[in-house]
Amino acid sequence: MPPTSETQASQDRAASLPFELMEVVSVSRSEIEVCADLERVVCDRDGAVATLDRATLDDTAMPKLPRDQSIVITIDGPAGTGKSSVARSLAKALGLDFLDTGAMYRAAAAITIDHKIDPSDSDAIVRETVKGDLHFDWTRDPPTILAFGSPIDHRIRAPDVAELVSPIATIRALREHMVKKQRIIAQQHPRLVTEGRDQGSVVFPDAAVKFYLDASPEVRARRRAEQLVASGHSADLGSITAEILDRDRRDSSRADGPLMCPSNAICVDTSDLTFDQVVKTLHRHVLAVVGR
Ligand code: C5P
Repeated sequence: MPPTSETQASQDRAASLPFELMEVVSVSRSEIEVCADLERVVCDRDGAVATLDRATLDDTAMPKLPRDQSIVITIDGPAGTGKSSVARSLAKALGLDFLDTGAMYRAAAAITIDHKIDPSDSDAIVRETVKGDLHFDWTRDPPTILAFGSPIDHRIRAPDVAELVSPIATIRALREHMVKKQRIIAQQHPRLVTEGRDQGSVVFPDAAVKFYLDASPEVRARRRAEQLVASGHSADLGSITAEILDRDRRDSSRADGPLMCPSNAICVDTSDLTFDQVVKTLHRHVLAVVGR
C-alpha cells in the first residue's frame, strides 16, 4: 500500500521517538499504518509514558479473529480505567472469551466478609477461598463468578468488598492460587482476553498482545461513581477518589504481582477517549499484531 500523507506523518513521528521507546514496542511499518488515526501512548521499561499520536477514529467494521486462532490478550491497569468493560467488548468484537480476574479477588474478599473470617487471618482466607472453588459460568455474558456452587456476582461490587479487596490481594498464597486458576482457565479457554493487574507481567508474560490502560485519578473516580450509581449504590466522589488512590498505592507497592506496565505492553491513556475509541484502538492493534 503506498504511504498516504497521514501514514507518512505517523512514520515521521514514530521515527522521532527516543530509541528505547521504539525498541520496546517494535513499531513496524504496517502497524504504524493501521494505527495512523489512533491516539496511542507507548510505555517504556520504567512505566513512563509518551504520547505517540492523536486523531479521530473512523467507524470501520470490526472483524473477528479466525476460529482456529489461539491467542491470549492481557489488559492491565488501575481501578476505574474501564478495563473490564473494554476487555469484555474487545473479546466480543474479536470473538474471544473474557476473563475478569478482579472478580476472583473480589470473590475472595466477599467470602472473607460473609464467612466472618478475621481479615488478618491470611491462612483462613486462603483456605476458605480454595474451599469455595471459584469458577465462572461461561454460558453467561459476561461470565458470572460462583463460589461454593452459587453465583456471587451480586456481592462483589459492594463497597465493603471494594474496601477489603486490595489488602486481601497482597496475600502471597492467595495470589499463587489465583495465578494457577487463571492459567488453567486459559488452557480451557485458549482464545482469551484477560484483565487485571498482573496478567501481562506475571500470569501470562508471553501473551501475544499486552495492553496497559491508564487514566487520571479524577476521571477514574468519576467513572467509578457513575458505575456505582448505575448499580443502585450511593456514591461520594471524595471518598471514591481517596479509595482509588489508596488502592493504587497498595496495588503498586505490594511484593507479589504489583500493578505495573508490563514489558512490551502498549499503554493507552483513556482519560480523553470515549469507550468506543478505546475498544477500537485495542482492536486494531490486535489485528495489526496478528496480521504480521
Ligand atoms: O479490577 P477490579 O477493580 O475488580 O479489582 C479489584 C482488586 O483486586 C484490585 O484493586 C486489586 O487489588 C485486586 N486484583 C489483583 N490482581 C488482579 C486483579 C485484581 O490484585 N489480577
